Amino acid sequence: RHERISILGLGAMGRALASAFLEAGREMTVWNRTPAKADDLVARGAREASSVEEAIEAGDLTVACLLDDASVREALAPATRNLDGRTLVNLTSGSVRQARELAGWLEKYGARFLAGGIMAVPPTIGTEGAFILYSGAHDLFDRVAPVLGPIGRPLWVGEDPGFAALYDMAALSGMYGMSAGADHAVALVHAEGGDVETFKREVLQPWMEQMLAITVPGADVSESVPDEYNPAMQATGLETLLSASREAGVPVDLAGHLRTSLWRMRRAVAAG
Ligand code: NDP
Repeated sequence: RHERISILGLGAMGRALASAFLEAGREMTVWNRTPAKADDLVARGAREASSVEEAIEAGDLTVACLLDDASVREALAPATRNLDGRTLVNLTSGSVRQARELAGWLEKYGARFLAGGIMAVPPTIGTEGAFILYSGAHDLFDRVAPVLGPIGRPLWVGEDPGFAALYDMAALSGMYGMSAGADHAVALVHAEGGDVETFKREVLQPWMEQMLAITVPGADVSESVPDEYNPAMQATGLETLLSASREAGVPVDLAGHLRTSLWRMRRAVAAG
């Protein structure tokens, strides 16, 4: 059974998770380092635990959503005796290595463990587009996925406990690349006196949507570029873009993504 859920951490994300579970009728116990963050959840039927030990004992499944890996270790340290036979799902962001080490550490205490990565923000938790990456034992994932469904579509990404963090961070890199491009685009239009709002709505949004369908499937680490995207042509275009940026007085740090692409095109040209 994994019907009773305990949540460790009631920050913006922990509260959103608890709220979605309550909405779905799950029996909830919540714990937060600083008390009094649970009041609204308690009013909606959650029970507040006064210690991590108590929270772990109360749940068939414990979900941790704290600041970082160090806070997870700190919160669990007094409760290691309570971990034997328990299931812990960690939705705290961390590195690949941290997830692998946490898996080993929890195994020592007899806990079953899934590492997670939240592909949502607090307001989108439990909404249609939200999905959560999980890595670790597949049989455990199969058992807990239906219970975890209310916070976002569960997606298993591998036995290696580090893979949820890996795919999470890689996806964030894609997102930041996209937003760096959009920020630079707007800076350029603004610096040359263009109408930013019209540009965003009528040019940038439809253009980026059209390109997204090509950019992601085409993403590659090799030295080859498909013929229709002649790398020499692209290198010339990127150099023009970089000089347009300099001419407009847009800070060069905003154009890092252009230099990354130029580097890749020059490498493709050099490789023939
Ligand atoms: P918040 O800063 O709102 O909350 C942080 C939580 O961690 C609080 O409950 C805080 O407790 C607790 N905490 C911090 N240090 C410790 C510690 N040493 N021991 C025990 N508890 C501690 O962050 P969020 O809720 O927004 O984020 C939580 C996790 O979710 C992070 O790993 C974040 O990367 C991830 N995430 C967040 C997203 C977002 O958009 N918010 C999106 C995707 C992932 P206290 O109240 O006592 O300070």
